[in-house]
Amino acid sequence: MCLNEWEVRFHTIPRRSGKRLFQCEDPILQRMERYDVAVVGAGPAGSMAARCSAMAGARTLIIEEHKAVGSPVQCAGLLGLKALEEACLGESSFRLLPFFGAKIHSPGGASISFRASTPRAWAVDRRLFDRSMALSALAAGADLELGAHVRKVAFAPDMASLELAGGEEISARVVISAEGVGGRLARAAGIPPPEKILSGAQVEVPFEAEDLDSVELYLDAAPGFFAWVIPAGENYARIGLCCRKSACEYLRAFLRSDEIRPRLRGSPLGIMAGGLPLGPSHSTAVSGLLAVGDSAGQVKPTSGGGIYPGLVCAKIAGKVAAEAAIEGDPSLKRLSSYDREWRRAIGRELFVGMRLNRMVEALCPEELDYLVEYISKREDLLRMIEEVGDIDRPSQLLARMLPAFGFDGLKMAGIFRKALWG
Ligand SMILES: Cc1cc2nc3c(=O)[nH]c(=O)nc-3n(C[C@H](O)[C@H](O)[C@H](O)COP(=O)(O)OP(=O)(O)OC[C@H]3O[C@@H](n4cnc5c(N)ncnc54)[C@H](O)[C@@H]3O)c2cc1C
Repeated sequence: MCLNEWEVRFHTIPRRSGKRLFQCEDPILQRMERYDVAVVGAGPAGSMAARCSAMAGARTLIIEEHKAVGSPVQCAGLLGLKALEEACLGESSFRLLPFFGAKIHSPGGASISFRASTPRAWAVDRRLFDRSMALSALAAGADLELGAHVRKVAFAPDMASLELAGGEEISARVVISAEGVGGRLARAAGIPPPEKILSGAQVEVPFEAEDLDSVELYLDAAPGFFAWVIPAGENYARIGLCCRKSACEYLRAFLRSDEIRPRLRGSPLGIMAGGLPLGPSHSTAVSGLLAVGDSAGQVKPTSGGGIYPGLVCAKIAGKVAAEAAIEGDPSLKRLSSYDREWRRAIGRELFVGMRLNRMVEALCPEELDYLVEYISKREDLLRMIEEVGDIDRPSQLLARMLPAFGFDGLKMAGIFRKALWG
């Protein structure tokens, strides 16, 4: 999908407010100030929710505060195969590089390397990815309003009213908050915040990667999470980290470290910072509103990937919102089926991921060294990672690895068991 296609297939409708509304050229679809479903935010979760809502027959509008979909980018752009599958976009130009493996470095210098026989993840162009997602929502019949910030939402028993920054009002039976990590409207409506929000930062920089088809992870560079090197082209990489706080300071130190500095081939071309929510909100539905994606803390706590869980949950949110709106019943009782369904689909994965995250955070550097060294010496475990490793579903790999820990691995098995079953 190229950007020109975006411009060719959709035309701009000038509006009194000066904002631009993009509409599908299909003559049946007309602009309405009253919608069944209004989705706030045109990130991947918002576009997927809108696509599914429109496909379920609901009049659907996406409202995005920026003047273009996909900017600014706040992401390392690493997508596993399941995330790409969930996006349903096919082989598209946003895929940059395939990754077959990874090298994980422990604080004391031990490392684990593995390489699968087929690609397990891709570096993507997030801007193009988000635009392709939005385009598919429009193709399904949703409308998109750009440059429109939703200031607040007022709820009546059967209709919500969204107030835009310019004073304009839009009504919808159900609102989907896909606002990203801030989730301001979701919080105001009564959706609780995620368990924690990490601080993230990344540079795109000329760099000599060890291996173009492998990512590098560093467990000691970022307290509470990790640092990464993701090749994004020849002599070019995304280097970043997430940690408890002050990510920019830790990133500066990481760029000066012996592992990174000698391989830098120029100054950063771009820097970005953003929050990463971990631990989903305890409830994600209230009367008249659902929260999805980062707004609901639906992020994998092991890798920080938010696109896969966001898409899984957005499909459910779009369908439930559309059905409830068409039935004319946006009550909490009706909408809470979303909360139950997404937890059934992916709740356990996020729950186990959160336990693992807490466990790794509690380990001292020596324990991390022990863990990495132990796995690096076990050929059978490395083969298992290569065969069934999946960044989107890490608990499956863990469950396969547990029985393989022998007598000498009892210490580690104990740690993992605690993570899985408490
Ligand atoms: C440093 C870093 C690296 C990451 N790397 C990866 C990675 O490699 N792989 C991965 O899967 N995930 C990654 N993530 C997480 C991923 O970026 C997010 O999980 C994902 O973008 C969430 O999608 P979303 O649709 O929920 O929200 P977003 O993509 O944040 O979209 C929300 C949209 O809502 C709009 N909006 C907000 N409020 C309003 C309002 N009031 N009115 C109108 N519009 C509004 C915003 O402008 C924005 O466009 C990373 C995150 C960070 C911080």
